[in-house]
Amino acid sequence: MNIQEKIQSLREELRKHNYQYYILDQPTLSDYEFDLKLKELQDLERAHPEFFDENSPTQRVGGSITKNFETVVHEYRMYSLDNSYSLEDLLNWEKRIEKIVDGQITFTCELKYDGASISLLYENGKLMNAVTRGDGIQGDNVTANVKTIPSVPLQLQGDYPKRFYIRGEIVLPYEGFATLNKERIEAGEEPYANPRNTASGSLKLQDSAETAKRPLDCLLYNIKGERLSITTQFESLQKAKAWGFKVPDTAKLATSVEDIMKFVEYWDTHRYDLPYETDGVVIKVNNLYQQEELGFTAKAPRWAMAYKFKAEQATAILREITYQVGRTGAITPVANLTPVQLAGTTVKRASLHNADQIEKLDIREGDSVYVEKGGEIIPKIVGVDFTSRPADSQPTQYIHQCPECATLLIRKEGEAQHYCPNFEGCPPQIIGRIQHFISRKAMDIDGMGAETVTLLVKEGLIINYADLYQLQKEQLLPLERMAEKSVDNLIKGIEASKNIPFERVLFALGIRYVGETVAKKLANHFKNIHTLSIALPEEMEQVNEIGSRIAESVFEFFQNPENRKTVDRLQSYELQLAISEETLANRSDKLQGKTFVISGVFSQVSRNELKKILEDNGGKVASAISSKTSYLVAGENMGPSKLAKAEKLKVPMLNESEILEMIATV
Ligand code: AMP
Ligand code: ZN
Repeated sequence: MNIQEKIQSLREELRKHNYQYYILDQPTLSDYEFDLKLKELQDLERAHPEFFDENSPTQRVGGSITKNFETVVHEYRMYSLDNSYSLEDLLNWEKRIEKIVDGQITFTCELKYDGASISLLYENGKLMNAVTRGDGIQGDNVTANVKTIPSVPLQLQGDYPKRFYIRGEIVLPYEGFATLNKERIEAGEEPYANPRNTASGSLKLQDSAETAKRPLDCLLYNIKGERLSITTQFESLQKAKAWGFKVPDTAKLATSVEDIMKFVEYWDTHRYDLPYETDGVVIKVNNLYQQEELGFTAKAPRWAMAYKFKAEQATAILREITYQVGRTGAITPVANLTPVQLAGTTVKRASLHNADQIEKLDIREGDSVYVEKGGEIIPKIVGVDFTSRPADSQPTQYIHQCPECATLLIRKEGEAQHYCPNFEGCPPQIIGRIQHFISRKAMDIDGMGAETVTLLVKEGLIINYADLYQLQKEQLLPLERMAEKSVDNLIKGIEASKNIPFERVLFALGIRYVGETVAKKLANHFKNIHTLSIALPEEMEQVNEIGSRIAESVFEFFQNPENRKTVDRLQSYELQLAISEETLANRSDKLQGKTFVISGVFSQVSRNELKKILEDNGGKVASAISSKTSYLVAGENMGPSKLAKAEKLKVPMLNESEILEMIATV
């Protein structure tokens, strides 16, 4: 086998495995074997850029940046669906369509997946682009992000048509949503409200590597194109599945409205067994000729009808409202309920969000409340049954003092949440901050878990993360569950954290609203902690995507003398509080204000390296050519459509040596 054949065969093997794993849920390789093969392919592709393929399985990791998503007009308009809520509605619909078409009507019943709709274009078995629904007439080109979703095939299999569109829904399954939120809460960020919005937000991230980290899934349900030799909707689902798409096996044929209702009733209760959210059923006329005869109204097809599930709700007695204190001091009210069955689980607690919401809904202890479960981790209270309110009921008095340290709470202008301002003395804040500091994405201190932190704080050995760097072996040995070996590990882990790069140290400090991405941006811009600590909010807002809320929060952090003292101590323990020399040496702002589009393959550098070089020198890299593109950097085998577009918009082109020279000499 020559190199090219080897590359092809690895791609095909990985693609097959991907299909087995994500579509059929029957893995054929272990994760380890998969990783080895992927690595082998990556190495070969790097050594032989002439065989680059943008639909190679190696391209799923993402990494391209899109600043402005290109608008694409849908070749076939993306309609919305009419809704029905009762048997009667469905019977009326059946009557209406029977008048228009001849012959017996069969229906396909499908689930209505609750996510973000997407239209994928395939040509010759390759994914060409992915466009959001937008207003139905035109949407955004989010191809770079969609490519990172493992269940979206980049290369089809079997007997697929030459060119077609396939539509579906991008969803974020419950489990992935819960993990994502857990990470956000750990990072002191607000959890996402529901899977649907998070899924659509994920498609519009500028950095596709970020999208790649979101556990998204893509479920398909509709094929559009010319001369497809498909005659029914049900057949199109089966074919799509055979070509490599993820099509749930839940669709059923029905010949009467009674059959349809059976399907609806079954899924109304069983939908919680599914890994993703659904909000109803979609009923479609099965025969595509009949569909064509029926056509569309101004907003929806006449041949389809949605049937919405009722939101799952239960009534419970609100026994008590308690309050939790987070690591940033934010107070969250929690409803403690009499246990109630909801969507297959027993619910005892529900979230109340904040004081305003309690007041708005007039929620009181002793009330009968309506509890609803959406995609949230904990259910929420959506209303009160006022008819059963006890006669002696009293309006809820939101707490004025911190439940943990009795400090008077504050609430900032325009903010919904109350805060405990006792930054230094409030136990959950002290512990939470240190737990955040040592966490995996921050200082990643090996050998130290959340419980160890609690123990060390309770024992009075640390009250601040800087104290970690002064811990002595002798202090730790006498503690419970601290064997010599674990103490050694812990001390070693703390020592090793001194090499963690600046951007992560900045994240670890636990400044409110400074998540991983913001920390990276601030670190890159201000280069070291000193410059950042004396920057004014206005200066911070000069940085792309840093708004006033973040800027104020960072400014305030460094205004606090206690924090400055802590940072000085971290400095004295030799943590990385500046971007490393090496990173700095390769940086400039020579390309400031210029936007590049990279296309084709390169011989001296990889695409990713080239992108990094451009960005390190202040340039921006976009994925699509527009009138704002300063240069098209063209490698070998560039796509003809990009070339045509560049010529049309008169975007100047640079080849590999020209761009490298430009950076070296400007
Ligand atoms: P609505 O937004 O309520 O008008 O509902 C229409 C949307 O439902 C479509 O744009 C699709 O994104 C979505 N949908 C989810 N599942 C299906 C399905 N099985 N068939 C058709 N549309 C679906
Ligand atoms: Zn407190």
